[in-house]
Amino acid sequence: MTASIIDGKKVAQEIRAQLTDEIAKLKQQGIQPGLAVILVGEDPASQSYVRSKAKACGEVGIYSEVIRMEASISETQLLDTIKQLNQNPNIHGILVQLPLPAHISEKAVIDAISVEKDVDGFHPISVGNLVIGSDALLPCTPHGIIELIKRTGTQIAGKHAVVVGRSNIVGKPVSMLLLHENATVTMCHSRTNNLAGITRQADILVVAVGRAGFIGAEHVSPGTVVIDVGTNRLESGKLVGDVKFDEVAPIAGHITPVPGGVGPMTITMLLANTVKAAKLYGRPQK
Ligand code: NDP
Repeated sequence: MTASIIDGKKVAQEIRAQLTDEIAKLKQQGIQPGLAVILVGEDPASQSYVRSKAKACGEVGIYSEVIRMEASISETQLLDTIKQLNQNPNIHGILVQLPLPAHISEKAVIDAISVEKDVDGFHPISVGNLVIGSDALLPCTPHGIIELIKRTGTQIAGKHAVVVGRSNIVGKPVSMLLLHENATVTMCHSRTNNLAGITRQADILVVAVGRAGFIGAEHVSPGTVVIDVGTNRLESGKLVGDVKFDEVAPIAGHITPVPGGVGPMTITMLLANTVKAAKLYGRPQK
């Protein structure tokens, strides 16, 4: 048996096409969804992510603003900028590109973003809404993972989902979303005993560890849906996941490649959140 490859790029394009139509309709009602991205400092990876986000906005018809700030700015200056964006009726989503310089508290910055504009889904109230299953702006990568699993035709309800990794941005929220989809969820981490014994019980295996080739054939049972969130840059420059793709693909039922699996979904769900925020809270613009 060889797994079918989950084509994240294709799914992302399909969702972006739907969003383009929705945005056109919103514009007819006088609402153009708007996203502000704040970039502090000159980290090359962050600059590249921000460029990709702005380009993706333009492609679907979302208005976007990139606010570039020096690495030396004070926390107060950054918080003031967020306060202004919270009040700006043309902006429906605010994203602060992480990481921030060490002298600025990420928590203070995330807490300052209006929950209604929290398109990253990192605000504590958004996290609380996610846990209680309230209709919230969902964190982008976990939301994208659920979309990918659903589009394989896999029914999540009743399945055993095993998540390896318990970070606040991937492992914990994706576990919660899988639970809301009525999976039976097991969360694994660096202190888990007999990891392979647990992952082999998975119908759905989500891996977000950040170690190249961490999951091999011994971790996977035939037919499992394998979602590889890891993005690891080898010394050669090659981008690889946490799963040994060549070993696992012949066993799994479905598998995401890296690159081209989860990655393209993350920005797409950011666009989707901006549109959702505009729909929920946007007012016709003058
Ligand atoms: P973190 O470093 O925050 O978390 C890693 C998790 O892996 C931790 O919970 C850790 O456990 C667990 N872990 C580490 N070693 C082991 C082990 N030996 N056995 C079991 N679990 C272990 O990473 P993130 O969640 O932020 O990211 C994970 C990966 O996903 C990275 O490669 C990142 O680049 C990628 N990523 C990709 C995105 C995309 O859009 N494609 C978006 C976000 C992340 P413990 O808690 O016990 O330390």
